[in-house]
Amino acid sequence: MDFTAGLMALEDALGQMLARITPLTDTETLPLHQAFGRVLARDVTSPLDVPGFDNSAMDGYAVRLGDVKEGAVLPVAGKAFAGQPFHGEWPEGTCIRIMTGAPVPTGCDAVVMQEETDANDAGVRFLKPIRPGQNIRLRGEDIQRDAVVLTAGTRLNVGELPMLASLGIPQVEVVRKIQVAIFSTGDELQLPGKPLGDGQIYDTNRLAVHVMLEQLGCEVINLGIIPDDPDALRAAFIDANRQADLVLSSGGVSVGEADYTKTLLEELGEITFWKLAIKPGKPFAFGRLPDSWFCGLPGNPVSAALTFYQLVIPLLAKLSGQHTPALPQTLRVRAASRFKKSPGRLDFQRGILQRDAEGMPEVVTTGHQGSHIFSSFSQGNCFVVLERERGNVEAGEWVDVQPFNHLFGG
Ligand code: AMP
Ligand code: MG
Repeated sequence: MDFTAGLMALEDALGQMLARITPLTDTETLPLHQAFGRVLARDVTSPLDVPGFDNSAMDGYAVRLGDVKEGAVLPVAGKAFAGQPFHGEWPEGTCIRIMTGAPVPTGCDAVVMQEETDANDAGVRFLKPIRPGQNIRLRGEDIQRDAVVLTAGTRLNVGELPMLASLGIPQVEVVRKIQVAIFSTGDELQLPGKPLGDGQIYDTNRLAVHVMLEQLGCEVINLGIIPDDPDALRAAFIDANRQADLVLSSGGVSVGEADYTKTLLEELGEITFWKLAIKPGKPFAFGRLPDSWFCGLPGNPVSAALTFYQLVIPLLAKLSGQHTPALPQTLRVRAASRFKKSPGRLDFQRGILQRDAEGMPEVVTTGHQGSHIFSSFSQGNCFVVLERERGNVEAGEWVDVQPFNHLFGG
């Protein structure tokens, strides 16, 4: 019997989800230092040429080629420092001392680095042939005025914000923060700090999801633990939908769960329950509530974290207007241990990516891969992604790995 019949491939689920999501359109204007991690709402053009003026790339001497005769010694007629240009008269047959970043004086053809000169009180002798334009950084060489420097949909990080500062831009228009309402479902769940009753466990998922969402720049509306009760659940969905762009619940999406979760969601909105062909994380729900998107994560903490990582992060990226999909980076490395697997589902095992004796990358398993073993996330530093049809992997075989992103300490 084929236990994988009817399971949906991860990329199909992702594709269907992303095809439906439309980005938020509300924006806000923020000073640069508050815009870290946010998504640009409009193209940014440069108000300036960068560099803003022709300047020296070296410490040395500014010359006019016509003044440099064979064996000539040119007296130094002045100095140009960064922030202190030379504006005096530049007599024929002389050179100007110049420092890196200083504007080149008018008429200058080249800058000669001091290592290629012989200087004494009488003046400077040039030891090597001089090329016109050498060691001069030209105005606008890096960025031209009015050129688009960043396009709408760019996420603003350390690669982008300092560049905007270098253009003299003090603030940017970004897409507003995504509001995400979260709750855990389950009669068995208890808050950390409270004693456990018979058969109870501590709520893990809400904390995982809350901190991940905050790190991703979302505004979190935390609605707590909701018991497995249709009225309480309906009230939670209605409340969450009213407040948020995305409603994220955990638990109650697997088979065997009381049917009212499904019925309720279908009554309130348009929800698709998927059985994904991935391990861990098979049950996952996605859909639309009247005013918000909905994702139902599996109850199992490892499955919840994994489906958040693989599906909810790309969904949030699309919702935030980011123009590149936030898909995990994949590398191919050698397995340095055995990975147990049976064919049928795409497996996301936790592994430790390290270097072998020759400095080449290799990956070993973190051990037991049960979907309740949350410690594998803190022991490991990557997902080992094993193809659906693949069986056991022996040491020496090639495997795909996805190094954990910053959310998992990568
Ligand atoms: P469910 O999807 O509700 O059937 O839950 C699947 C498994 O995950 C069960 O063993 C639950 O007790 C457990 N579980 C559900 N929600 C949570 C949670 N928030 N934290 C930790 N474990 C949970
Ligand atoms: Mg449950």
